[in-house]
Amino acid sequence: MNETKCNIAVIRGDGIGVDVTDAALAVIEAARGRTGGFRLDCDDLDAGAGYFKETGQDIAPGAEDACDTADAILLGAIGLPDVRHADGTEISPHLRLRDRFGLYAGVRPVKAYPNAPQRLADPRAAGIDLIILRESTEGLFYTAAATGREIVANDDEVQDILRITRATSEKLFDFAFRLAEKRKARGKKGMVTCVDKANVFRSMAFFRKIFDERKAAFPDVPVSYNYVDAQALDLIRRPWDFDVLVMENMFGDILSDLAGGLVGGMGMASCAEVGDEHALFQPAHGSAPDIMGQDKANPLAAILSGALMLDYLSDRTGGHTGLADAAQVIEDAVEKGFAANRLRPMEFGGDMGTKAVTKELIDLIGGA
Ligand code: ATP
Repeated sequence: MNETKCNIAVIRGDGIGVDVTDAALAVIEAARGRTGGFRLDCDDLDAGAGYFKETGQDIAPGAEDACDTADAILLGAIGLPDVRHADGTEISPHLRLRDRFGLYAGVRPVKAYPNAPQRLADPRAAGIDLIILRESTEGLFYTAAATGREIVANDDEVQDILRITRATSEKLFDFAFRLAEKRKARGKKGMVTCVDKANVFRSMAFFRKIFDERKAAFPDVPVSYNYVDAQALDLIRRPWDFDVLVMENMFGDILSDLAGGLVGGMGMASCAEVGDEHALFQPAHGSAPDIMGQDKANPLAAILSGALMLDYLSDRTGGHTGLADAAQVIEDAVEKGFAANRLRPMEFGGDMGTKAVTKELIDLIGGA
C-alpha cells in the first residue's frame, strides 16, 4: 500500500513539554501501527527557555524555516519562569510562529470523559463535548501580540485596540462552519454559536455581520448567537447544549480556560492553531516547572493534540483515511481507557504518572 509521508517539525521545549511530546509521539506511533498508510518524518528542533539560557537565542538557527516547510508543527511547552529576556518578558518563540504563519484559528476541544473530574453536579455534564474556536491573531490581543501597535501609551493613559478584520473573520467563520459539518458527520451536534458583544461594540457588531454573511454559504449548519457574558453563564448552566463556539481572541482566552475547568484540568486541554498553510499543535498548558522531571505530568493534552494533528494532516493530504483513522483510534482509546478506569492520571488524584498513562494507552490501542 502507498504510504503518505508527512514532515513534522517537533519542538519539545521546556519542562514537562519534553515528556508529554515523547508520550504523544509514542502514542501516534502505536496508532500508526493499527492503521498504517502513513509515515511521519520528524525533524527535532531546539527552542525554548532552556535553549535560550545555553545559547542566548530562543530558537535554533534555521528552525523557523524548518517549521515553514513542515506539514505540521508539534510543540510541547515553552518557557521557564526564571529565564527571561532583559526586559523581563518570557521566552516565547511560539508566539512569533503564530504571527509569522497567521495561525488564526485556535481550536480548543472541551470534552467530558467518564471517571475524569466533573465539576458540575448535573448528570448532563457527562455529555459536554464542545469546541472553543478562538481567533488568535487579532481581536483584543492585536496590540498585545506585537510591539509598535499602541496608539496611546504614556504615564497618564494606555490604550489597546480590539481589531476585527473582514479577511480574518471570513476565514475564521468558514473554518467554524466546516468544523461543524465535520462534527455532524461524526455524530455530534454540528452547530455554531457566534459569541460576541454586538450590542455594545462596533467591532463586535461587525464581527456578527460577517458571521451572518458567511453563514449563507452553509445553509445546513444551525446557528445561534450569545453575548459573551451570557455565554459565561451558559457554560456553567448548560454547557452540554453547545457545539462550536466561535469568538474573538480575548473572549476565547477566558472562556477556553473556564470551559476546560469544567472537564478536568490543564492536562486534558488539547489545542490546534491553524492557518491557511500551516498549523501548530500543542497542549494548552505550560511547562509546569513545579512538576517537571518527576513523571507526574498528565500527557493526555499533548496526546489529544497529536490526534488533532493527524486529523489535520488527513485533510491536508486530501482526506487520507489512514491519518483520520489513527486520530480516531487515539480518541477512542482515551474514551475507553477512562470508561474502564484504566487511565488514572496523578493530576486527578490517580496513581499513574506520565509513563504509566502512556503505556496504558498504547496497550489499549494495541487491543490489550
Ligand atoms: P503558561 O503561562 O506557560 O501557560 P502557567 O504557569 O500558567 O504556564 P502551567 O505550566 O500550565 O501554567 O501550569 C499550571 C498548573 O497546572 C501547575 O500547577 C501545573 O503543575 C499544572 N499542570 C499543567 N499542566 C499539567 C499536566 N500536563 N499535568 C498535570 N498538571 C499540570
